Amino acid sequence: MTQQDIRSPAAPAPVVLTAVEPGPARRPLISYVLPVYNEQDGIAAFHAELTAALAGRPDLDVQLVYVNDGSTDGSLPILKDLADHDPRVRVVDFARNFGHQIAITAGLDHAEGDAVIVMDTDLQDPPKVSLELVDAWREGADIVHARRRSRQDSAFKRATAHAYYRVLRASTDVDIPLDTGDFRLLDRKVADELRRYRERSRFVRGIVASMGYRQREVSFDRDERFAGETKYPLRKMARLAVDGVTSFSTAPLKMITRLGFGVLALSLAGIVYALAMKFFRPEITVSGWTMLMCVVLFLGGTQMLSLGVIGAYIGRIYSEAQGRPLYLVREVLGTAADGDERGGDGDR
Ligand code: UDP
Ligand code: MG
Repeated sequence: MTQQDIRSPAAPAPVVLTAVEPGPARRPLISYVLPVYNEQDGIAAFHAELTAALAGRPDLDVQLVYVNDGSTDGSLPILKDLADHDPRVRVVDFARNFGHQIAITAGLDHAEGDAVIVMDTDLQDPPKVSLELVDAWREGADIVHARRRSRQDSAFKRATAHAYYRVLRASTDVDIPLDTGDFRLLDRKVADELRRYRERSRFVRGIVASMGYRQREVSFDRDERFAGETKYPLRKMARLAVDGVTSFSTAPLKMITRLGFGVLALSLAGIVYALAMKFFRPEITVSGWTMLMCVVLFLGGTQMLSLGVIGAYIGRIYSEAQGRPLYLVREVLGTAADGDERGGDGDR
């Protein structure tokens, strides 16, 4: 018996509200952004574990965007092989090593999903946890950070990371979540907005935290690296740390201004002291000393203050040069001039 049969013949034809009524539920597409740099020994195991975890979620469509960040080992042939056997795999192959943060950015440029998950490919970020991020997203979060409850790295790395996140938080205006790396999920609209941030020295996790939207955290235990060594030696970690502070704060520049005022005040006190010695205790004042002191102190104080002023302008030039969007929109409600109905979160 069809639906038409049970309806009484007198009943009016049902009004179909195409704009409001949800169609047959479309499965959301989840894109994974997966940076790879010299991971030949672990990448196949990573892919196997990720696909095994995804096999348990037939309610999701997936796209896997591997970004080969100029690997010099056998990673690329392995990725090509994965792409040949799995239609969900896309490989973006860089001409050289551009670094983790740029690799993530390129992956975001190529990801088409309703949500995008960024994760490492060394099995330190467990694939199963990515599905918890998806669940939090489906409950309404726009950005889901995976927070490390524990990590298996060396004591040195743990201690420096711990201290770094706290210093960063104290020196910038941005509320950067503690103990999170780049393992996170972004809703489509957040990913699109993030793509408008084109600064060169980038600190993606800071930018994301500064964006607003509905953010949530999911805790997980960070595993040990499956194979190979960390691609973040101390040198790269230090560079990332500096990028983190300088891309969100002009505090170091403001410090010069404060220092300038301090030095100028001390110089004036020194000049007053030198003059007082000259007039009141001429017998113990070496000839020429007063002049010398006045010139040195005056120059020192004014130079320091001038540097601060220049620093303030450089700070402004810097933030203009970053060219970040002025604002980000969560959604626009109401009817647009072209008659398009807008609003709602779409098909989540
Ligand atoms: N990575 C990259 N380019 C680089 C360095 C690292 O794409 O120049 C990738 C690497 O393959 C891994 C992720 O970024 O998937 C994180 O790197 P790693 O595991 O070495 O960092 P750690 O977990 O030790 O902080
Ligand atoms: Mg790692």
